[in-house]
Amino acid sequence: MPRSLRIAIGGIHIESSTFSPHLSTASDFEVTRGDALTARYAWLSPLAPWAAEIEWVPLVHARALPGGAVDAAAYDAWSAEILDGLARAGTLDGVLLDIHGAMSVVGRDDAEGDLVTAIRSVIGPEPFVSAAMDLHGNVSPVLFAGCDLLTCYRTAPHVDVWETRERAARNLVDALRRGQRPHKALVHVPVLLPGEMTSTRVEPARGLYGRIAEVEARDGVIDVAIWIGFAWADQPRCRGAVVATGTDAAAATEAARELGEQFWAAREEFTFVAPTGPMDECLDTALVAVADPARRPFFISDSGDNPGAGGADDVTFALSRLLARPEIRDGSVRAVFASLVDPEAVAQVADRSPGTPVEVPVGGRIDPRDPGPLPLAGVLEAVAEDPDGGRCVSIRVGGLSVFVTSRRMQYRQLASYARLGVAVDEVDLVVVKIGYLEPELFDAAGDWLLALTPGGVDQDLERLPYAHLVRPIFPLDRDFVADLTVATR
Ligand SMILES: [Zn+2]
Repeated sequence: MPRSLRIAIGGIHIESSTFSPHLSTASDFEVTRGDALTARYAWLSPLAPWAAEIEWVPLVHARALPGGAVDAAAYDAWSAEILDGLARAGTLDGVLLDIHGAMSVVGRDDAEGDLVTAIRSVIGPEPFVSAAMDLHGNVSPVLFAGCDLLTCYRTAPHVDVWETRERAARNLVDALRRGQRPHKALVHVPVLLPGEMTSTRVEPARGLYGRIAEVEARDGVIDVAIWIGFAWADQPRCRGAVVATGTDAAAATEAARELGEQFWAAREEFTFVAPTGPMDECLDTALVAVADPARRPFFISDSGDNPGAGGADDVTFALSRLLARPEIRDGSVRAVFASLVDPEAVAQVADRSPGTPVEVPVGGRIDPRDPGPLPLAGVLEAVAEDPDGGRCVSIRVGGLSVFVTSRRMQYRQLASYARLGVAVDEVDLVVVKIGYLEPELFDAAGDWLLALTPGGVDQDLERLPYAHLVRPIFPLDRDFVADLTVATR
């Protein structure tokens, strides 16, 4: 009887901006090992039929909310743990890498590429390596060379995260059972696009990602994946990519070539998923619009400091503009600002009774850009424990509830607002640190504008000080012929 297949699972999963002053440290990560790691994957508990008769070997998995670059010591420790686990695992047939693909580590340009190279140095060239990634990750030549299968999400906002991981695992198992190393093909697409231009809810991303099913169904094709890439790191690997894998080399090459060309041809059509403008213009529009019940609650995305993309989550610019409005201060407009991370401010006020007047500086500690810490004088409205944000408070100033959290978090679920006593459908205006609206907010919104605010994930890429990208790249460069050569190794 042949021995059963052995597949190790592990990875480090974070999207981290080199333009954010935030430093992602070990304490920002949720780390799983052993049974807790395997319990993450639905196909392992209970074991799906296709995953049976395989020995799944957990290594270590670390994941964090997007942030600034990762502390090198934290990365080195998990990388060493993964390598050590592989060395102790004995003979392996495969490795499933559960990664984001846009991990910036202080002092490194291609963290995932380094990781896969280190993994190969332990396991050798024989085992198959399959990577499950975020479509906002990057596919460097080194990462591509080290993997046999690479795939990524097909939706943004991402609603197929677990499907993607399962597909990466199944494709790995199928390839191992066939006993044939997959053929692979990569086309780099020289574009740098903010995620807020590339929602798969709207064209052209909807049509581009919509082609995957048809191309993947062709004979000889295993998987087709399209990476938008990550715009907020200043690294040579940052750009779009298409990877196709297959049992037939020509079919994989053709699939990658075709979708790479379609992606490139669509570059001028990517526009922001919502109307955009400077914060003050967005407020002008919103404060008029809220007179119309159909447009309430009106959402404004404070997109430049979106913690969901790596922003510090404490830039006070948008809050300061809100507080400058008389309609907000006199309470004639009911608004919410969600949120700022500031554990010191929370600690200063959270033990008081709701209803107590408070005066406390908030925000601007991690990312002190203009206007920096903002003195807030109001009334303590609510205190809550949030599973993401830790201890949180709401401070009421006129018509505005300002949410302050102990840990970086994103207010993308209605339940998080409710914890601090706010029913989103009862307020006029919500200003939230987010990019495109996540599904619950999208459904709740009467109207929506994306404010191009300053921060570590500024959506206006032309304002960012890039020095290490491979040029030319659209839209920073416009008059050039793209090299869409298909790489196969
Ligand atoms: Zn993403």
